[in-house]
Amino acid sequence: MDSKVERNWFNDVMVPCYNPMEMIPVKGIGSRVWDQQGNEYIDFAGGIAVSCLGHCHPVMVKAITEQANKIWHLSNVMTNEPALRLAKKLTEISFADKVFFANSGAEANEAALKLARRVAAEKYGDDKSEIIAFKQGFHGRTFFTVTVGGQEAYSDGFGPKPGNVTHLDYNDIEAFKAKISDKTCAVMMEPLQGEGGIVSSSKEFAQTVRELCDKHNALLIYDEVQTGNGRTGTFYAYEGLGVTPDILSTAKSLGGGIPIGAMLTTDEYAPFLKVGTHGSTYGGNPLACAVAEAVVNVVSLPETLAGVKEREALFRDGLEKINEKYNIFSEIRGQGLLIGAALNDEWQGRARDVLVAAGKEGLMLLVAGASVVRFTPSLVIDKKDIEEGLAKLDKAIASIV
Ligand SMILES: *Cc1c(COP(=O)(O)O)cnc(C)c1O
Repeated sequence: MDSKVERNWFNDVMVPCYNPMEMIPVKGIGSRVWDQQGNEYIDFAGGIAVSCLGHCHPVMVKAITEQANKIWHLSNVMTNEPALRLAKKLTEISFADKVFFANSGAEANEAALKLARRVAAEKYGDDKSEIIAFKQGFHGRTFFTVTVGGQEAYSDGFGPKPGNVTHLDYNDIEAFKAKISDKTCAVMMEPLQGEGGIVSSSKEFAQTVRELCDKHNALLIYDEVQTGNGRTGTFYAYEGLGVTPDILSTAKSLGGGIPIGAMLTTDEYAPFLKVGTHGSTYGGNPLACAVAEAVVNVVSLPETLAGVKEREALFRDGLEKINEKYNIFSEIRGQGLLIGAALNDEWQGRARDVLVAAGKEGLMLLVAGASVVRFTPSLVIDKKDIEEGLAKLDKAIASIV
């Protein structure tokens, strides 16, 4: 290895807001990754639901290389071809008519929240500013988005927060009915809570939220940063719920590994963000958009989406078998390739132990909270890699029972 970079540099030169694993990956192809020492890993983490076509997919490498030889960056003083093509594609495959590009999920959500507040203020006045969101929800790390997110550990301790945000229990229809009113400006929710533990919304809940938003002229914002771009087996998860939001945020898998986010909305609401009201230097950058366009073209193919369901079945079967052997999970939940294996009473709080043991066996995993093991692999992961990864998980659990 030519590199002498070491993991302990992290402690010397990085702000300590992360606690990364010991190994440093240096190369990835598909769903296999190698570290500095040449150890091989199967990747069930997918860079937290980002690497939807695996590492260095030829389609992405081609798109970035071609665009890298044309033009990288312009700013929004000019528009560019990749951004316009990507926006056209996203509007064709979703409910949306208009797109705003950002660089991350948090920024897409920030745009969504600012749009909702602006619509309410201009149409109905400043009194209509309440945002309803849900406990355990996660919407990113800007100050507005952590405030709307439902985890105090992320939002508190930074001084005064943006105001008039209410948090309710997810899936609690009665609590929602009791709270929403004409003063509600928007409701923000994930169609399936990711960071909060892989918790699906019930159809009845999702549909009630939609109906009451209509009744009270509140905008419905779906945060599909984690669920979007094929992750649940439809291009966006709202399609499976029979509910259409007014605003949708998307990021993570949208770029397949290049930083990009987007807020999608309709012709009715987009005009409220008129010239000068919002913006981003990098948003809609041609390099990022060229890669995202290539990614979306592959992910939106019917065979890719059907493949997600097939792979989900393989994961569920494999995890059930592991559970029969070790009796460790209380439930395998989630949808598509956003899967949570919830640890049973005896194993509460030990999701990180499973993750660390898996790392030692050459398997990259994620957790969602202290007691859920999370799987967000590439949507096109080889079936052989699924099998091999599950065998490694079996060994990892055997080492800690
Ligand atoms: C990851 C995530 C975000 C934040 O995205 P960033 O790109 O980290 O800003 C927001 N919402 C949900 C649902 C997410 O999973």
